[in-house]
Amino acid sequence: MAEIFSPVQNLPRIPDDLTLTQFILDCEHPCKPVRKVGVPWIIEDHSGKTLELEELRTRTYGLANALKIRYDIKEDDAVLIFSPNHVDYLVAIWAAHRLGAIVSGANPTFTTDELAYQVEATKAGIILTHPDLLPVALSAARASGIHSDHVIVFDAAGSENLQVSTVQTLITQGLASPPGFKERRLSPGEARTKIAFYCFSSGTTGKPKAVAIPHYAPIANIIQMAVFHKLNASDVPMEEQRFRPGDICSGGEYIYALVFNTHFMFFCGMSVVLTTRFSFADFLKNIDSYRITHLILVPPMVVLLSKSPEVTKYDLSTVRFIKSGGAPLAPATLEQLIKCFPDASVGQGYGTTESSGGISISPIDRKRDVSGGSGILLPGIDARVERQDGSLAEFGEMGELVIRSPSLALGYAGNRLAMEETFINGWYRTGDEVKLTHTGEVFVIDRLKEMLKVRGYQVAPAELEGCILDHPDVADTCVVGVQDEYSGEIPLAFVVLHPGPAEHAREDPRVAEDMKQSIVKHVADRKAAYKKLAGGVEFVDAIPKNPSGKLLRRVLRDRAKELRPGP
Ligand code: AMP
Repeated sequence: MAEIFSPVQNLPRIPDDLTLTQFILDCEHPCKPVRKVGVPWIIEDHSGKTLELEELRTRTYGLANALKIRYDIKEDDAVLIFSPNHVDYLVAIWAAHRLGAIVSGANPTFTTDELAYQVEATKAGIILTHPDLLPVALSAARASGIHSDHVIVFDAAGSENLQVSTVQTLITQGLASPPGFKERRLSPGEARTKIAFYCFSSGTTGKPKAVAIPHYAPIANIIQMAVFHKLNASDVPMEEQRFRPGDICSGGEYIYALVFNTHFMFFCGMSVVLTTRFSFADFLKNIDSYRITHLILVPPMVVLLSKSPEVTKYDLSTVRFIKSGGAPLAPATLEQLIKCFPDASVGQGYGTTESSGGISISPIDRKRDVSGGSGILLPGIDARVERQDGSLAEFGEMGELVIRSPSLALGYAGNRLAMEETFINGWYRTGDEVKLTHTGEVFVIDRLKEMLKVRGYQVAPAELEGCILDHPDVADTCVVGVQDEYSGEIPLAFVVLHPGPAEHAREDPRVAEDMKQSIVKHVADRKAAYKKLAGGVEFVDAIPKNPSGKLLRRVLRDRAKELRPGP
């Protein structure tokens, strides 16, 4: 029977009286390697500026003090960060945690409506943003009843001319003012329920929901990763370690998506190169100039790396470990990547927002993991694979992966129904169809849940369907994913038109084409670019539903496969 138990009691102690910030910035742990003197925590890519622990702690204190004194940020208030990467992004997270507040990161490509949805769902009272995104942040604030005073910008070109406070001025004020806050300390056990983040995920079905992640969850995940990798184990020589103090990791395209990875890198004594404005050319240049050793990628980046002739122009020989995760990766693409990085250890990792990061990762003793698998379960994770009828599958048989882990989220804030469907008696239904081997290797076969992954980002069909239904010609719709070589998946909308427009479309193919374009534009005007209907629109007479009215997505997914067979 496909069931594996890995008792959490066998792990080293997972502190349950610390915030993630205290665990990372202030504390030692037996699994934590000793950081080498002079190794910075953060390297800012465009300026080469480095930040060390003391400076980060000071900035964090200054910002926390100002947030308390000027904005009265209190226990469990939500602080929303809407910005591309920035050195103070992490400082803002840590400052909020010092106050006992909750952080929610919004995708920097969001439109006003998308941002306002997140502000309202988290009841955030303050938005930290980037000068380039200020107009969107201000209009979302207006729409959600947040005063423009409560919109703050990170310091970047142009921020000095804006009529809003900057993070740097707040840090300066906070450092110059007497202490106005007392650091939030947790009592034993409290980290298990004290919320650190509201991340967004659509889970199994419906629109994006706020996933409540307690401090304990990412701390546990770091320890699970540390044990899996035998960090600090006396029997593993330093040169055989996958993560070593002094190694340098690329911070990737959008730091919030990688916040949990980034904290693990800090824990390992590594530096993270923060790329403020992502471009592929700069990404390659940074590997060369900062001697980057670790790349944490999503599949589209792997496609770019393995296909681009540009890679030959740079010295990429320092890269020792590459992990792809967040979405499925075709084995052929992995093979291509290995050709570009013949000396690096290359593999996959699998995880979900609801598990605060990693569930499985490629084993350390397998240098090139071309098995097609997504790694071995981390220690402390109990897993089972269930058939559709709820019975246990056999090892090697397909079914839904259900796990129990100390890194699990508490659930979906304010959505009891979704929570009860997904989190059951301490177990979490991943919504992923997998095969599990008796050695704990996970092969992700398909997604049972509705969610699409476009360039590694979640897209909730229900959200796009709601938007398409607002189009005046549309009577009904269903969005499914179709395969795409670069993005992994792209959304395709099956649409039923109202009788009048339907007749026009039937009579004249050019009218039909214009209507399709109009629906594509309708979505593009209202949603972030990665959510656009890049798979196009198909008109149908009816959306298949079962007798109780439930959408039969599978039928349309199969139809989409026939229409757009993919790469
Ligand atoms: P997110 O919550 O945005 O991290 O998305 C989690 C989902 O991404 C999982 O439930 C999987 O469907 C998918 N996913 C993540 N990692 C992998 C992987 N290595 N292989 C296949 N699918 C993955």
